[in-house]
Amino acid sequence: MAGAKANARVVIVGAGPVGMVCALALNRSGIAVTVFEQEPAPVEDQRAASLHPSTLEMLDDLGVTEQIIPLGLISSAYRFHDRVSHSVVAEFDLNLMRDEFRFPYVLQYEQYKLTASIAKEYGNSSDFDVRFSHAVTDLTETADGVDVEVSTPDGVERLRADYVIGCMASNGETQEMLRRCSCSIDVIASLVPYEHYAKAGTILSLAQMRSEAASLFREGQWSQSVLEELRRAQIEADFRCF
Ligand SMILES: Cc1cc2nc3c(=O)[nH]c(=O)nc-3n(C[C@H](O)[C@H](O)[C@H](O)COP(=O)(O)OP(=O)(O)OC[C@H]3O[C@@H](n4cnc5c(N)ncnc54)[C@H](O)[C@@H]3O)c2cc1C
Repeated sequence: MAGAKANARVVIVGAGPVGMVCALALNRSGIAVTVFEQEPAPVEDQRAASLHPSTLEMLDDLGVTEQIIPLGLISSAYRFHDRVSHSVVAEFDLNLMRDEFRFPYVLQYEQYKLTASIAKEYGNSSDFDVRFSHAVTDLTETADGVDVEVSTPDGVERLRADYVIGCMASNGETQEMLRRCSCSIDVIASLVPYEHYAKAGTILSLAQMRSEAASLFREGQWSQSVLEELRRAQIEADFRCF
């Protein structure tokens, strides 16, 4: 951090994998952090379950792998399955690249386990302060820092931070938003047969190409009718779930 203040404290909003790993990296560099997370604890869902070789190397540099590898599931093979017949279409063996990777495998260790492990192992009340049930509700930047407003179980708190990093996924994801998104996917799946959905997905990606042939997918009558079914389902899903 060029020009960083001595004794700076960084506030991190969101104890997801990005927030917690960022907090650990800063803390390892001697920077005090406070992480605010609106949920009461890491939420037990199946997101970001696979830690790939390069992610494991990054976590290893932060001293986390010794603790988590014995707790996760190890797989050295990537397998692609046919969605309908479930047969294996292709398999890649990471072991063949063992000279390239420190960890030639994927570790199944869901993001809530990783964030909980980091909070449990490294969190403390001074230089790595992780506070659950604390939602950041307002930020005001001033010439020499940021005023942070936090809603806590004991009421509203205000504090001053030197820097604030927002780690709340791309659009401020919340569990509520996740619930609505899965509702919407369920509605679409109930209205559009899987084969039609796969066709529409192919048309949408081919239509993005620049070639003249791609205009067939952008403007062709057949592709428009396939896309129309998906569009109608999306409108219905938005109506029912959002
Ligand atoms: C259904 C689903 C499945 C996925 N599966 C995989 C997968 O298998 N592998 C993979 O690599 N990726 C997967 N992902 C993507 C992965 O989960 C995200 O890339 C990752 O969670 C992003 O991490 P993050 O820390 O930026 O955000 P998040 O994990 O969303 O964490 C953000 C945190 O910020 C908190 N927050 C938000 N606003 C505030 C506020 N104002 N104050 C305090 N806290 C706040 C939220 O409660 C949340 O805990 C999946 C995503 C979804 C939706």
